[in-house]
Amino acid sequence: MNILVINSGSSTVKFQVIETTDATGDLLRQQKLARGLVDRIGAGASYRFEGLGRSTQSGSLPVGNHEEAVRSIIHWLRSDGHDLALDAVGHRVVHGGDEFLGPVRIDDGVISKIEALNELAPLHNPAALSGIRAAQKILGAAVPMVAVFDTSFHHTIPEQAATYAIPYELSQKHKISRYGFHGLAHQYDIARYADLNGKPVAQVRAVTLHLGNGCSATAIRNGQAVDTSMGFTPLEGLVMGTRSGDLDPALVNYLARKESVTAVDIEDMLNKRSGLLGLSGLSNDMRELTAAYDKNPRARLAVDVFCHRARKYLGAYLAVLGGAEAVIFSGGIGENSPLVREKICAGMEWCGLTLDPSANATVIGTDSRISAPDSTLDVWVIHTDEENIIARETARVLQRR
Ligand code: AMP
Repeated sequence: MNILVINSGSSTVKFQVIETTDATGDLLRQQKLARGLVDRIGAGASYRFEGLGRSTQSGSLPVGNHEEAVRSIIHWLRSDGHDLALDAVGHRVVHGGDEFLGPVRIDDGVISKIEALNELAPLHNPAALSGIRAAQKILGAAVPMVAVFDTSFHHTIPEQAATYAIPYELSQKHKISRYGFHGLAHQYDIARYADLNGKPVAQVRAVTLHLGNGCSATAIRNGQAVDTSMGFTPLEGLVMGTRSGDLDPALVNYLARKESVTAVDIEDMLNKRSGLLGLSGLSNDMRELTAAYDKNPRARLAVDVFCHRARKYLGAYLAVLGGAEAVIFSGGIGENSPLVREKICAGMEWCGLTLDPSANATVIGTDSRISAPDSTLDVWVIHTDEENIIARETARVLQRR
């Protein structure tokens, strides 16, 4: 079965075509046939397409909306003599609220329910809907489509971890809860770790640290999420590229008053001008900050605050789990920054965690263990492949029917 995986952002459409060979296990057995993206839709769009035995193609592309972007992707997949069969489409949808606890086949009712969740994810869900509508229009009703949600993996988080300590009636009235995000990434990371260690994911107890431009930590017991750092929105938890993560909620009103701006302005600042960028005044890119670490005190402060917060969550989640067998680093920073991994893991021997310094220094962007042979808490680096989970879930939903 060939599955087109579509991941639509507000101004991007990323895609992969995955040939699935076996979707029954924790990890999909697959072959990637093609991948690419259309970027900056509506404002001087560009594209990069690769695969199908052709050389990589890239350049500018006159597309003004998601429909034109999806059309150009499908046109490329079927051009140059390729008659590539697309048997199904799997769409990544960020927010499933309390409505979608797992993947679903898309029909009009599902689209209306995703639309009703727009308020909870105003930047993300409308983009996913544009991608879904575009693919439906171009491929027609004959190609089944499945929505796979980033929040679903976290629906196993128990009430005491998912509930905010605000008046209970307000949580009920406004559906306020720790929804959690990055679920596909955490789900892949734990499945891949289990696969690499030859055990069923249902037996794994671990903390996953997904550190990219957005960052989140998840505590996982028996393969299921029991706590996660992002909450009602993706702003909570760890320090991120431009997001503050946790702070004293009283700061919102205090800063609004002191700066004579609105609470909406402050929320915007916490999302777009805080985190690594706000702390350093230099960049939201960890590469630049670690390069400047020894010379620039603000870059050093940004990296140190980032690592301290991640370490605090790691310790908290080890307590939530009552210990774990592994800590898993993933995401652009987790996969590629030995310095960040070292700072987060330094001095953790008390809980059985010792890094292997040479493994940590050399493992960059590959799946490998970086803890010392005598470390009782293993540390792994995993290169996240969210599309694997989207394709696996798409195949499973369609096979169930
Ligand atoms: P992601 O959102 O997972 O694609 O991660 C993107 C982020 O990973 C970038 O903004 C960088 O901060 C970070 N990153 C990528 N490569 C490196 C590297 N070699 N060292 C440190 N950080 C990196």
